[in-house]
Amino acid sequence: MERIDVVIVGGGLGGLACAYCLAKEGIQVLVLERGDHPGSKNVTGGRIYLRPLKPFLPELLDEAPLERLVTKEAITMMGDGSSFTLQFTSEKFREETPHSYTILRSRFDKWFGERVMDRGGFVVPQRRVTELLKEDGRVVGVVSEGEEIPADVVIIADGALSLFAQKAGLRGPLPPRNAAVGIKEVVKLQPEVIEERFGLKPGEGMAHLFFGSITHGAFGGGFLYTNSDTISLGLVIGIESFLKTQPPTETHRLLEEFKEREEVAHFIRGGELVEYSAHLIPEGGRTLLSRPYGDGILVVGDAAGFALNMGITVRGMEFALASGCMAAQAVKRAKETGDFSASSLAYYEDLLRESFILQDMETFRDSLEVVENPRLFNFYPRWLCNILEEIFWIGEGPKEKISSTLWRGIKEGIFNIAGLKDVWRFRRI
Ligand SMILES: Cc1cc2nc3c(=O)[nH]c(=O)nc-3n(C[C@H](O)[C@H](O)[C@H](O)COP(=O)(O)OP(=O)(O)OC[C@H]3O[C@@H](n4cnc5c(N)ncnc54)[C@H](O)[C@@H]3O)c2cc1C
Repeated sequence: MERIDVVIVGGGLGGLACAYCLAKEGIQVLVLERGDHPGSKNVTGGRIYLRPLKPFLPELLDEAPLERLVTKEAITMMGDGSSFTLQFTSEKFREETPHSYTILRSRFDKWFGERVMDRGGFVVPQRRVTELLKEDGRVVGVVSEGEEIPADVVIIADGALSLFAQKAGLRGPLPPRNAAVGIKEVVKLQPEVIEERFGLKPGEGMAHLFFGSITHGAFGGGFLYTNSDTISLGLVIGIESFLKTQPPTETHRLLEEFKEREEVAHFIRGGELVEYSAHLIPEGGRTLLSRPYGDGILVVGDAAGFALNMGITVRGMEFALASGCMAAQAVKRAKETGDFSASSLAYYEDLLRESFILQDMETFRDSLEVVENPRLFNFYPRWLCNILEEIFWIGEGPKEKISSTLWRGIKEGIFNIAGLKDVWRFRRI
Protein backbone atom coordinates (compact mmCIF):
# COMPACT_ATOMS: atom_id res chain seq x y z
CA MET A 1 0.00 0.00 0.00
CA GLU A 2 1.22 3.56 -0.76
CA ARG A 3 2.30 5.76 2.14
CA ILE A 4 -0.55 7.90 3.48
CA ASP A 5 -0.43 10.94 5.74
CA VAL A 6 -2.04 9.51 8.89
CA VAL A 7 -3.33 6.15 10.07
CA ILE A 8 -5.40 5.94 13.24
CA VAL A 9 -5.67 2.83 15.43
CA GLY A 10 -9.21 2.78 16.86
CA GLY A 11 -12.45 4.48 15.87
CA GLY A 12 -13.60 5.67 19.30
CA LEU A 13 -14.04 9.34 20.16
CA GLY A 14 -10.31 10.14 20.24
CA GLY A 15 -9.59 8.51 16.90
CA LEU A 16 -12.67 9.90 15.14
CA ALA A 17 -12.15 13.46 16.43
CA CYS A 18 -8.57 13.38 15.17
CA ALA A 19 -9.70 12.00 11.80
CA TYR A 20 -12.48 14.59 11.50
CA CYS A 21 -10.12 17.53 12.17
CA LEU A 22 -7.46 16.14 9.79
CA ALA A 23 -9.96 15.46 7.00
CA LYS A 24 -11.29 19.02 7.38
CA GLU A 25 -7.76 20.25 6.64
CA GLY A 26 -7.52 18.04 3.54
CA ILE A 27 -5.00 15.68 5.18
CA GLN A 28 -5.31 12.00 4.13
CA VAL A 29 -6.49 9.89 7.02
CA LEU A 30 -7.44 6.25 7.52
CA VAL A 31 -9.14 5.01 10.71
CA LEU A 32 -8.93 1.27 11.40
CA GLU A 33 -11.60 0.04 13.82
CA ARG A 34 -11.84 -3.58 14.95
CA GLY A 35 -15.59 -3.41 15.76
CA ASP A 36 -18.49 -3.89 13.32
CA HIS A 37 -18.86 -0.11 13.31
CA PRO A 38 -17.47 2.74 15.46
CA GLY A 39 -19.05 2.50 18.90
CA SER A 40 -20.23 -1.10 18.45
CA LYS A 41 -17.96 -2.26 21.31
CA ASN A 42 -18.47 0.76 23.55
CA VAL A 43 -19.79 0.56 27.13
CA THR A 44 -19.79 4.23 28.23
CA GLY A 45 -22.47 5.19 30.80
CA GLY A 46 -22.68 8.05 30.07
CA ARG A 47 -22.85 11.78 29.92
CA ILE A 48 -20.77 14.22 27.96
CA TYR A 49 -19.89 17.81 28.92
CA LEU A 50 -20.13 20.04 25.86
CA ARG A 51 -18.66 23.35 26.98
CA PRO A 52 -14.99 22.25 27.06
CA LEU A 53 -15.48 21.01 23.47
CA LYS A 54 -16.92 24.18 21.94
CA PRO A 55 -13.53 25.52 20.78
CA PHE A 56 -12.67 22.20 19.13
CA LEU A 57 -15.79 20.88 17.40
CA PRO A 58 -18.30 23.75 17.42
CA GLU A 59 -20.40 22.96 14.35
CA LEU A 60 -20.29 19.20 14.79
CA LEU A 61 -21.81 19.00 18.25
CA ASP A 62 -24.73 21.23 17.29
CA GLU A 63 -26.10 18.48 15.07
CA ALA A 64 -24.87 15.41 16.99
CA PRO A 65 -27.31 12.63 18.00
CA LEU A 66 -27.21 13.28 21.73
CA GLU A 67 -29.88 11.83 24.02
CA ARG A 68 -31.23 14.18 26.74
CA LEU A 69 -30.06 17.52 28.12
CA VAL A 70 -29.09 16.84 31.75
CA THR A 71 -31.06 19.21 33.97
CA LYS A 72 -31.14 17.07 37.12
CA GLU A 73 -28.19 15.72 39.07
CA ALA A 74 -28.60 13.24 41.91
CA ILE A 75 -26.28 11.39 44.24
CA THR A 76 -27.61 8.63 46.47
CA MET A 77 -25.70 7.25 49.45
CA MET A 78 -26.81 3.67 50.00
CA GLY A 79 -26.97 2.17 53.48
CA ASP A 80 -27.96 -1.48 54.00
CA GLY A 81 -31.70 -0.97 53.82
CA SER A 82 -31.85 2.81 53.68
CA SER A 83 -30.54 5.59 51.49
CA PHE A 84 -30.08 9.34 51.33
CA THR A 85 -30.39 11.28 48.05
CA LEU A 86 -29.10 14.73 47.19
CA GLN A 87 -30.79 16.13 44.12
CA PHE A 88 -29.80 19.29 42.32
CA THR A 89 -31.29 21.21 39.40
CA SER A 90 -30.48 24.63 37.97
CA GLU A 91 -31.78 26.90 35.19
CA LYS A 92 -28.10 27.30 34.27
CA PHE A 93 -28.16 23.76 32.83
CA ARG A 94 -30.70 24.97 30.25
CA GLU A 95 -28.60 27.87 28.92
CA GLU A 96 -28.22 28.36 25.18
CA THR A 97 -24.77 26.73 25.19
CA PRO A 98 -25.78 23.48 26.89
CA HIS A 99 -23.83 22.02 29.78
CA SER A 100 -24.11 18.25 29.35
CA TYR A 101 -26.09 15.57 27.55
CA THR A 102 -26.57 11.87 28.04
CA ILE A 103 -25.17 9.85 25.16
CA LEU A 104 -25.36 6.35 23.67
CA ARG A 105 -22.02 5.70 22.10
CA SER A 106 -23.06 2.99 19.65
CA ARG A 107 -25.35 5.60 18.05
CA PHE A 108 -23.07 8.62 18.44
CA ASP A 109 -19.81 7.00 17.22
CA LYS A 110 -21.53 5.46 14.18
CA TRP A 111 -22.86 8.89 13.22
CA PHE A 112 -19.44 10.49 13.89
CA GLY A 113 -17.74 7.92 11.63
CA GLU A 114 -20.13 8.92 8.83
CA ARG A 115 -19.26 12.62 9.33
CA VAL A 116 -15.54 11.74 9.01
CA MET A 117 -16.33 10.01 5.69
CA ASP A 118 -18.36 13.07 4.53
CA ARG A 119 -15.22 15.18 5.08
CA GLY A 120 -13.12 12.81 2.95
CA GLY A 121 -11.56 10.62 5.65
CA PHE A 122 -11.76 6.80 5.57
CA VAL A 123 -13.16 4.78 8.44
CA VAL A 124 -12.73 1.04 7.92
CA PRO A 125 -14.59 -1.20 10.38
CA GLN A 126 -13.74 -4.83 11.16
CA ARG A 127 -10.04 -4.07 10.74
CA ARG A 128 -7.88 -4.96 13.72
CA VAL A 129 -4.39 -3.48 13.88
CA THR A 130 -1.91 -6.10 15.01
CA GLU A 131 1.52 -4.43 14.90
CA LEU A 132 3.35 -1.14 14.57
CA LEU A 133 5.70 -0.81 11.61
CA LYS A 134 9.06 0.55 12.77
CA GLU A 135 12.20 1.72 10.97
CA ASP A 136 15.34 2.68 12.93
CA GLY A 137 13.24 2.95 16.11
CA ARG A 138 10.69 5.34 14.64
CA VAL A 139 7.08 4.40 13.91
CA VAL A 140 6.34 4.41 10.17
CA GLY A 141 2.94 2.71 9.93
CA VAL A 142 0.89 -0.24 11.10
CA VAL A 143 0.11 -3.83 10.16
CA SER A 144 -3.55 -4.82 9.89
CA GLU A 145 -4.83 -8.23 8.80
CA GLY A 146 -1.35 -9.03 7.45
CA GLU A 147 -1.21 -5.85 5.33
CA GLU A 148 1.48 -3.21 5.89
CA ILE A 149 0.09 0.34 5.89
CA PRO A 150 2.88 2.94 5.84
CA ALA A 151 2.07 6.43 7.14
CA ASP A 152 3.86 9.64 8.13
CA VAL A 153 2.13 9.60 11.52
CA VAL A 154 0.33 6.88 13.49
CA ILE A 155 -2.30 8.03 16.01
CA ILE A 156 -2.84 5.58 18.86
CA ALA A 157 -6.51 5.76 19.91
CA ASP A 158 -7.13 2.16 20.97
CA GLY A 159 -8.62 2.89 24.39
CA ALA A 160 -7.83 2.10 28.02
CA LEU A 161 -5.61 -0.97 27.62
CA SER A 162 -3.68 0.54 24.70
CA LEU A 163 -1.43 -2.29 23.63
CA PHE A 164 0.01 0.06 21.02
CA ALA A 165 1.14 2.83 23.38
CA GLN A 166 2.85 0.00 25.26
CA LYS A 167 4.37 -1.44 22.07
CA ALA A 168 5.70 2.03 21.25
CA GLY A 169 7.41 2.07 24.67
CA LEU A 170 5.44 5.15 25.79
CA ARG A 171 3.66 3.51 28.73
CA GLY A 172 3.44 0.33 30.77
CA PRO A 173 0.35 -1.80 31.32
CA LEU A 174 -2.60 -0.25 33.17
CA PRO A 175 -1.98 -1.11 36.86
CA PRO A 176 -5.03 -2.61 38.68
CA ARG A 177 -5.00 0.39 41.04
CA ASN A 178 -5.61 2.81 38.13
CA ALA A 179 -8.24 0.63 36.50
CA ALA A 180 -11.92 0.00 37.07
CA VAL A 181 -14.33 -2.39 35.43
CA GLY A 182 -17.55 -0.89 34.09
CA ILE A 183 -20.66 -3.02 33.55
CA LYS A 184 -23.73 -1.58 31.94
CA GLU A 185 -27.25 -2.48 30.90
CA VAL A 186 -29.53 -0.51 28.62
CA VAL A 187 -33.24 -0.81 29.44
CA LYS A 188 -35.91 0.34 27.00
CA LEU A 189 -38.88 2.41 28.21
CA GLN A 190 -41.31 4.81 26.52
CA PRO A 191 -40.03 8.45 26.59
CA GLU A 192 -43.21 9.58 28.46
CA VAL A 193 -42.64 6.87 31.11
CA ILE A 194 -39.05 8.09 31.63
CA GLU A 195 -40.24 11.70 31.93
CA GLU A 196 -42.96 10.78 34.41
CA ARG A 197 -40.75 8.55 36.59
CA PHE A 198 -37.89 11.05 36.81
CA GLY A 199 -40.03 14.20 36.85
CA LEU A 200 -38.50 15.53 33.61
CA LYS A 201 -39.68 17.80 30.81
CA PRO A 202 -39.62 16.29 27.28
CA GLY A 203 -36.02 16.16 26.00
CA GLU A 204 -34.55 16.74 29.45
CA GLY A 205 -32.69 14.13 31.45
CA MET A 206 -31.10 13.06 34.69
CA ALA A 207 -27.66 11.86 35.76
CA HIS A 208 -27.83 9.82 38.96
CA LEU A 209 -24.85 8.35 40.84
CA PHE A 210 -25.01 5.87 43.74
CA PHE A 211 -22.41 4.76 46.26
CA GLY A 212 -22.21 2.89 49.54
CA SER A 213 -23.21 -0.65 50.42
CA ILE A 214 -23.97 -1.59 46.76
CA THR A 215 -20.26 -2.31 46.07
CA HIS A 216 -19.77 -4.44 49.22
CA GLY A 217 -17.00 -2.14 50.41
CA ALA A 218 -15.12 -1.96 47.08
CA PHE A 219 -14.16 1.41 45.61
CA GLY A 220 -16.77 2.43 43.05
CA GLY A 221 -20.46 3.03 42.62
CA GLY A 222 -23.52 2.87 40.43
CA PHE A 223 -24.77 5.13 37.65
CA LEU A 224 -28.08 5.71 35.94
CA TYR A 225 -28.59 7.99 32.93
CA THR A 226 -31.85 8.71 31.14
CA ASN A 227 -31.59 8.52 27.33
CA SER A 228 -34.34 9.40 24.83
CA ASP A 229 -36.16 6.07 25.11
CA THR A 230 -33.81 3.98 27.23
CA ILE A 231 -32.05 4.06 30.59
CA SER A 232 -28.35 3.22 30.91
CA LEU A 233 -27.46 1.85 34.30
CA GLY A 234 -24.52 -0.02 35.75
CA LEU A 235 -21.58 -0.12 38.09
CA VAL A 236 -17.99 1.03 37.94
CA ILE A 237 -15.75 -0.84 40.40
CA GLY A 238 -12.06 -0.32 41.15
CA ILE A 239 -10.28 -3.55 40.26
CA GLU A 240 -7.68 -3.56 43.03
CA SER A 241 -10.14 -2.99 45.86
CA PHE A 242 -12.70 -5.37 44.29
CA LEU A 243 -10.13 -8.18 44.34
CA LYS A 244 -9.77 -7.65 48.10
CA THR A 245 -13.53 -7.72 48.81
CA GLN A 246 -14.47 -10.23 51.52
CA PRO A 247 -16.33 -12.50 51.02
CA PRO A 248 -15.38 -12.50 47.32
CA THR A 249 -18.24 -11.84 44.93
CA GLU A 250 -18.82 -11.35 41.19
CA THR A 251 -19.52 -8.10 39.38
CA HIS A 252 -22.70 -9.35 37.67
CA ARG A 253 -24.07 -10.36 41.11
CA LEU A 254 -23.42 -6.82 42.37
CA LEU A 255 -25.26 -5.44 39.33
CA GLU A 256 -28.27 -7.70 40.02
CA GLU A 257 -28.35 -6.58 43.69
CA PHE A 258 -28.07 -2.93 42.58
CA LYS A 259 -31.05 -3.31 40.23
CA GLU A 260 -33.09 -5.03 42.92
CA ARG A 261 -32.69 -2.14 45.37
CA GLU A 262 -36.01 -0.27 45.47
CA GLU A 263 -34.17 3.03 44.86
CA VAL A 264 -33.31 1.67 41.36
CA ALA A 265 -35.95 -0.98 40.71
CA HIS A 266 -38.86 1.45 40.46
CA PHE A 267 -37.09 3.43 37.70
CA ILE A 268 -36.64 0.42 35.40
CA ARG A 269 -39.79 -1.55 36.24
CA GLY A 270 -41.50 -2.96 33.11
CA GLY A 271 -38.51 -2.01 30.91
CA GLU A 272 -36.98 -4.33 28.32
CA LEU A 273 -33.26 -5.18 28.60
CA VAL A 274 -31.77 -4.36 25.18
CA GLU A 275 -28.01 -4.35 25.83
CA TYR A 276 -25.43 -5.70 28.30
CA SER A 277 -21.72 -4.86 28.17
CA ALA A 278 -18.55 -4.63 30.25
CA HIS A 279 -15.30 -2.72 29.76
CA LEU A 280 -12.16 -1.50 31.47
CA ILE A 281 -11.83 2.21 32.43
CA PRO A 282 -8.70 4.11 33.41
CA GLU A 283 -9.44 6.02 36.62
CA GLY A 284 -7.02 8.86 36.00
CA GLY A 285 -4.90 10.24 38.77
CA ARG A 286 -1.25 10.59 37.92
CA THR A 287 -0.74 10.09 34.20
CA LEU A 288 0.43 6.70 32.98
CA LEU A 289 2.35 8.02 30.05
CA SER A 290 5.97 9.13 30.00
CA ARG A 291 4.99 11.37 27.05
CA PRO A 292 2.09 11.26 24.57
CA TYR A 293 4.29 11.50 21.46
CA GLY A 294 7.31 9.85 19.83
CA ASP A 295 8.94 9.68 16.42
CA GLY A 296 5.99 9.37 14.01
CA ILE A 297 3.43 8.65 16.74
CA LEU A 298 0.87 10.42 18.98
CA VAL A 299 -1.39 8.96 21.67
CA VAL A 300 -4.91 10.29 22.40
CA GLY A 301 -7.86 9.66 24.74
CA ASP A 302 -8.02 6.73 27.15
CA ALA A 303 -4.89 5.25 25.54
CA ALA A 304 -2.99 8.21 26.98
CA GLY A 305 -4.78 7.84 30.34
CA PHE A 306 -6.73 11.08 29.81
CA ALA A 307 -9.66 10.32 32.12
CA LEU A 308 -10.70 11.50 35.56
CA ASN A 309 -12.85 10.09 38.31
CA MET A 310 -13.76 13.21 40.28
CA GLY A 311 -16.07 11.36 42.65
CA ILE A 312 -19.14 13.31 41.54
CA THR A 313 -18.58 12.54 37.87
CA VAL A 314 -16.49 10.39 35.49
CA ARG A 315 -14.89 12.31 32.66
CA GLY A 316 -13.19 10.73 29.67
CA MET A 317 -15.18 11.58 26.56
CA GLU A 318 -14.39 15.26 26.30
CA PHE A 319 -10.74 14.45 27.01
CA ALA A 320 -10.72 11.94 24.15
CA LEU A 321 -12.43 14.31 21.69
CA ALA A 322 -10.30 17.34 22.54
CA SER A 323 -7.02 15.41 22.61
CA GLY A 324 -7.90 13.96 19.17
CA CYS A 325 -8.37 17.48 17.80
CA MET A 326 -5.11 18.68 19.36
CA ALA A 327 -3.24 15.71 17.88
CA ALA A 328 -4.65 16.78 14.48
CA GLN A 329 -3.32 20.32 15.02
CA ALA A 330 0.14 18.93 15.81
CA VAL A 331 0.09 16.75 12.69
CA LYS A 332 -0.99 19.70 10.53
CA ARG A 333 1.94 21.76 11.83
CA ALA A 334 4.40 18.88 11.35
CA LYS A 335 3.17 18.39 7.77
CA GLU A 336 3.90 22.04 6.95
CA THR A 337 7.58 21.43 7.71
CA GLY A 338 7.66 17.77 6.66
CA ASP A 339 9.16 16.92 10.07
CA PHE A 340 7.37 14.09 11.90
CA SER A 341 10.05 13.51 14.51
CA ALA A 342 9.32 13.43 18.24
CA SER A 343 10.68 16.96 18.71
CA SER A 344 8.26 18.29 16.07
CA LEU A 345 5.26 16.32 17.37
CA ALA A 346 6.03 17.46 20.93
CA TYR A 347 3.88 20.48 20.03
CA TYR A 348 0.93 18.19 20.89
CA GLU A 349 2.02 18.17 24.53
CA ASP A 350 2.26 22.00 24.51
CA LEU A 351 -1.34 22.14 23.30
CA LEU A 352 -2.44 19.67 25.97
CA ARG A 353 -0.73 21.72 28.68
CA GLU A 354 -2.47 24.92 27.60
CA SER A 355 -5.87 23.18 27.56
CA PHE A 356 -8.27 21.91 30.22
CA ILE A 357 -6.92 18.38 29.70
CA LEU A 358 -3.55 18.54 31.43
CA GLN A 359 -4.70 21.39 33.68
CA ASP A 360 -7.65 19.36 35.03
CA MET A 361 -5.51 16.24 35.25
CA GLU A 362 -3.05 18.29 37.33
CA THR A 363 -5.73 19.91 39.55
CA PHE A 364 -7.31 16.52 40.26
CA ARG A 365 -4.11 14.49 40.26
CA ASP A 366 -4.81 13.33 43.82
CA SER A 367 -8.51 12.65 43.27
CA LEU A 368 -8.00 8.90 43.05
CA GLU A 369 -6.28 8.81 46.47
CA VAL A 370 -9.18 10.79 47.95
CA VAL A 371 -12.12 8.99 46.37
CA GLU A 372 -10.75 5.47 46.87
CA ASN A 373 -10.85 5.94 50.67
CA PRO A 374 -12.74 2.79 51.85
CA ARG A 375 -14.60 4.82 54.51
CA LEU A 376 -16.44 6.65 51.71
CA PHE A 377 -18.04 3.35 50.65
CA ASN A 378 -18.22 1.50 53.96
CA PHE A 379 -18.64 3.95 56.76
CA TYR A 380 -20.12 7.30 55.65
CA PRO A 381 -23.23 6.13 53.73
CA ARG A 382 -24.26 3.84 56.62
CA TRP A 383 -23.37 6.50 59.19
CA LEU A 384 -25.46 9.17 57.49
CA CYS A 385 -28.40 6.82 56.84
CA ASN A 386 -28.35 5.69 60.49
CA ILE A 387 -28.46 9.28 61.78
CA LEU A 388 -31.35 10.14 59.45
CA GLU A 389 -33.19 6.95 60.38
CA GLU A 390 -32.95 7.89 64.06
CA ILE A 391 -34.13 11.44 63.33
CA PHE A 392 -37.16 10.34 61.30
CA TRP A 393 -38.09 7.36 63.51
CA ILE A 394 -40.78 7.69 66.15
CA GLY A 395 -40.72 4.58 68.34
CA GLU A 396 -42.78 3.36 71.27
CA GLY A 397 -40.69 5.15 73.89
CA PRO A 398 -39.75 8.81 74.42
CA LYS A 399 -37.72 10.54 71.68
CA GLU A 400 -34.27 12.09 72.12
CA LYS A 401 -33.80 15.74 71.11
CA ILE A 402 -32.91 16.02 67.38
CA SER A 403 -29.88 18.18 68.25
CA SER A 404 -28.62 15.44 70.64
CA THR A 405 -28.97 12.73 67.92
CA LEU A 406 -27.12 14.97 65.47
CA TRP A 407 -24.35 15.86 67.91
CA ARG A 408 -23.81 12.20 68.85
CA GLY A 409 -23.64 11.35 65.13
CA ILE A 410 -21.15 14.12 64.36
CA LYS A 411 -18.91 13.04 67.24
CA GLU A 412 -19.01 9.44 66.04
CA GLY A 413 -18.42 10.27 62.36
CA ILE A 414 -16.31 13.42 62.16
CA PHE A 415 -14.84 14.49 65.52
CA ASN A 416 -12.37 11.64 65.84
CA ILE A 417 -8.97 10.92 64.32
CA ALA A 418 -10.27 9.00 61.28
CA GLY A 419 -12.99 11.58 60.53
CA LEU A 420 -10.66 14.57 60.83
CA LYS A 421 -8.09 12.82 58.63
CA ASP A 422 -10.78 12.38 55.95
CA VAL A 423 -11.81 16.03 56.14
CA TRP A 424 -8.13 17.01 55.77
CA ARG A 425 -7.73 14.66 52.81
CA PHE A 426 -10.72 16.24 51.05
CA ARG A 427 -8.94 19.55 50.66
CA ARG A 428 -6.92 17.87 47.85
CA ILE A 429 -9.85 17.80 45.41
C1 LIG B 1 -19.09 1.96 32.17
C2 LIG B 1 -18.41 3.22 31.70
C3 LIG B 1 -18.98 4.45 31.98
C4 LIG B 1 -18.37 5.63 31.55
N1 LIG B 1 -19.01 6.81 31.77
C5 LIG B 1 -18.48 7.95 31.29
C6 LIG B 1 -19.19 9.17 31.40
O1 LIG B 1 -20.31 9.23 31.91
N2 LIG B 1 -18.59 10.30 30.93
C7 LIG B 1 -17.36 10.27 30.31
O2 LIG B 1 -16.90 11.32 29.86
N3 LIG B 1 -16.68 9.12 30.18
C8 LIG B 1 -17.20 7.96 30.65
N4 LIG B 1 -16.53 6.79 30.47
C9 LIG B 1 -15.18 6.83 29.85
C10 LIG B 1 -15.28 6.98 28.31
O3 LIG B 1 -16.01 5.89 27.79
C11 LIG B 1 -13.87 6.95 27.70
O4 LIG B 1 -13.06 7.90 28.36
C12 LIG B 1 -13.90 7.27 26.20
O5 LIG B 1 -14.69 6.34 25.52
C13 LIG B 1 -12.48 7.25 25.64
O6 LIG B 1 -12.53 7.33 24.23
P1 LIG B 1 -11.34 6.72 23.37
O7 LIG B 1 -11.62 7.08 21.97
O8 LIG B 1 -10.04 7.11 23.96
O9 LIG B 1 -11.44 5.13 23.57
P2 LIG B 1 -12.60 4.16 23.18
O10 LIG B 1 -13.89 4.84 23.11
O11 LIG B 1 -12.45 2.97 24.08
O12 LIG B 1 -12.23 3.73 21.68
C14 LIG B 1 -11.15 2.86 21.38
C15 LIG B 1 -11.49 2.18 20.06
O13 LIG B 1 -10.35 1.47 19.59
C16 LIG B 1 -10.78 0.25 19.03
N5 LIG B 1 -9.61 -0.64 19.05
C17 LIG B 1 -8.96 -1.13 20.14
N6 LIG B 1 -7.93 -1.90 19.75
C18 LIG B 1 -7.93 -1.90 18.39
C19 LIG B 1 -7.12 -2.53 17.41
N7 LIG B 1 -6.08 -3.31 17.73
N8 LIG B 1 -7.41 -2.32 16.09
C20 LIG B 1 -8.47 -1.53 15.73
N9 LIG B 1 -9.28 -0.93 16.63
C21 LIG B 1 -9.01 -1.10 17.93
C22 LIG B 1 -11.92 -0.19 19.94
O14 LIG B 1 -12.79 -1.12 19.31
C23 LIG B 1 -12.62 1.15 20.21
O15 LIG B 1 -13.62 1.44 19.27
C24 LIG B 1 -17.11 5.59 30.87
C25 LIG B 1 -16.53 4.35 30.59
C26 LIG B 1 -17.18 3.17 30.97
C27 LIG B 1 -16.55 1.85 30.61
